[in-house]
Amino acid sequence: MSDFVYCLHMKYHIITFGCQMNISDSERISSMLESLNYKETSVLKEADLVVINMCSVRQPAVDRVYGLIPQFTALKTKNKGFKTVLTGCILKPERTKLNEIFDFILDKEQLNKWPELLRGKEIEAKKSDYLKIVPKYKNKIQALVPISNGCDNFCTYCAVPFTRGKLISRNHKEILKEVNDLVIKGYKEIWLLGENVNSYNSKGVNFSKLIKEIDKIPGKFWLRFTSPHPKDFSDELIKTLKESNKFVPYLNLPVQSGDNIILREMNRPYTREKYLTLVDKIKKVFNNNISISTDIIVGFPNETEEQFKNSERLMKEVRFDLAFISQYSPRPQSFSCEKLEDNVLKKIKKRRAISLNNILKKTAFENNQKLLNKEVDVLVLEKDKEYCTGRTDQNKAIRFKSNEDLSGKFVKVKIIKVTAWNLEGILVKPKIVVILGSTASGKTDLAIDLAKKFNGEIVSADSRTIYRGMDIGTAKPRDTKGVPHHLIDIISPDEDFNVALFKQEAIKKIDEIIEKGKLPILVGGTGLYIKSIVENLEFPQIKADEKLRKRLEKKTTEELFETYKGLDKEGSEKIDRNNRRRLIRAIEVSSFLNESFFKERKKEPIYDILQIGIKINKEELEERIRKRVDKMIKQGLEKEVKKLSKKYGFIIPPMQTIGYREWENYFNKKETLENTIEKIKINTVKFSKRQMTWFKKDKTINWI
Ligand code: SF4
Repeated sequence: MSDFVYCLHMKYHIITFGCQMNISDSERISSMLESLNYKETSVLKEADLVVINMCSVRQPAVDRVYGLIPQFTALKTKNKGFKTVLTGCILKPERTKLNEIFDFILDKEQLNKWPELLRGKEIEAKKSDYLKIVPKYKNKIQALVPISNGCDNFCTYCAVPFTRGKLISRNHKEILKEVNDLVIKGYKEIWLLGENVNSYNSKGVNFSKLIKEIDKIPGKFWLRFTSPHPKDFSDELIKTLKESNKFVPYLNLPVQSGDNIILREMNRPYTREKYLTLVDKIKKVFNNNISISTDIIVGFPNETEEQFKNSERLMKEVRFDLAFISQYSPRPQSFSCEKLEDNVLKKIKKRRAISLNNILKKTAFENNQKLLNKEVDVLVLEKDKEYCTGRTDQNKAIRFKSNEDLSGKFVKVKIIKVTAWNLEGILVKPKIVVILGSTASGKTDLAIDLAKKFNGEIVSADSRTIYRGMDIGTAKPRDTKGVPHHLIDIISPDEDFNVALFKQEAIKKIDEIIEKGKLPILVGGTGLYIKSIVENLEFPQIKADEKLRKRLEKKTTEELFETYKGLDKEGSEKIDRNNRRRLIRAIEVSSFLNESFFKERKKEPIYDILQIGIKINKEELEERIRKRVDKMIKQGLEKEVKKLSKKYGFIIPPMQTIGYREWENYFNKKETLENTIEKIKINTVKFSKRQMTWFKKDKTINWI
């Protein structure tokens, strides 16, 4: 058929018409072409290969394919290697006509053989299960997962059974694996697709069972599907959807007509009464918290004014949130095209479509008005200038102002403005609790009590409990009473860690806890760590300057401090002058930025925070610290430090902290055990005072 040869650096462009199923098919076509080293281009005229994924459901979509032909002819004269492929839902009469125009007409079901077919090989390409091909997903948040292909229903107006063939359900294990992989990759919304999605049945696993299985996949994601057939919408399915913790309340339930005679003529095996009963049942089970859309056709052959009015009445009765209203167009091969006359005038079809659209606009607006001042769950899909945009759980388009790009996150938004098609709101910040105070003040016990009472999980804001192996000297919580603790034991003492990394990790954990519907409780005594979250501090991303570091390493700690003081006088009053690593970093940052290392760069806070501080009088605190150090000694602190010092020495920053650094002289026989313990006690008391000085500056803390 062709001498077409594909080679490196060739570009492809896909134009997709029609439904989500076609969009999903295009993702598989992309994947196949990229396995042949093609690169995708979004610019048609740059492409060496253009694939048209056609839709034959309505005539306008077919007309648009013909509309592209002049462009292809022009491109062929410029690029001799330019080739075109037609695929998708192609009816027989179109196939014959378009065969003359396109270089290849290939079926998606032969996708695994496209490499040979594109080379022009005359091979027998049997139809295969092309859904097995792993797609190149176009979106990073929402994914389309076909669960079946084809349809056996033969609605009289529809060409799908002729273009896609008989219904074939995908193996449920393959679907579960695809969904599971997507969730692991971070996808937040999964759409199950099928021409008649609820007729799904694979080896005894029906659609309800499939949803129950998907429900077991761990992780937070939203599950939606399209399109179900009312005849297959069982009570079992409604119950499954209600009980599912992944399905979100939006249903597209195609009615096609509100008149019983037209429904019969369409070969839709239900009546308007049955449809209305089904909608009522669904709304009741979901306590009216579900949005319902439909597909409806006007101007089906012989549709009288009265029959159309039945469609109007049905639209008013159901009060849809959305509807895909189409004017009937005969599709070749379909029963209505072959046997019935397309006898409703174009202008009447148009008038009827406008009339249904007006009803829809009114009901959709009234439905949305009920959401005013309510908080809704939103999946953020994009950030565009000052707005984040997304979809509510009921699949309504929404936007809200935000400085942060929250794409891919679930958030709550309070609705302040509505139209028929859009919502606008303000972001409701997630609530978190912070428990802070000096060392030995009893923060952990209070946090565990609160977590038990309010279904919480704890995120540690302690700069030392992050290190593995530093257990006794950091008073790492031993008995967490079943309350999950995060950011403990996450790195080894010789690994680099800083407040910017802490903030990143803490936000990740906090968001995960919120997604689980639980209360995050941030607990610790490291003031800067807490502040980084509370005030959403920004940290400059300045890479390590190895040359400068080498030079600085040669200086004594005192010299480092003096160098830093010369650069940043204000900062030198705040820094720990004994912390070499911090001094080096401070010199690096302040010399690069030419501003104070301690300059705070705050952004709009992410969370709605309640800060609880624990205050204890000085004498009692000193007493507690002394007792705690004695307990650490009994628990084997000396052994722990010995083990760590053998592995890392005392030079690394964690080993220069209180409870660890004091042992160096003792191990070198320059200090007695008694004095070492006393030094730990004194240093800890001093440290607790510094902690309180830091916290007292924050006037938003509620002290108890
Ligand atoms: S259910 Fe009817 S309208 Fe839907 S794909 Fe099948 S034949 Fe077409």
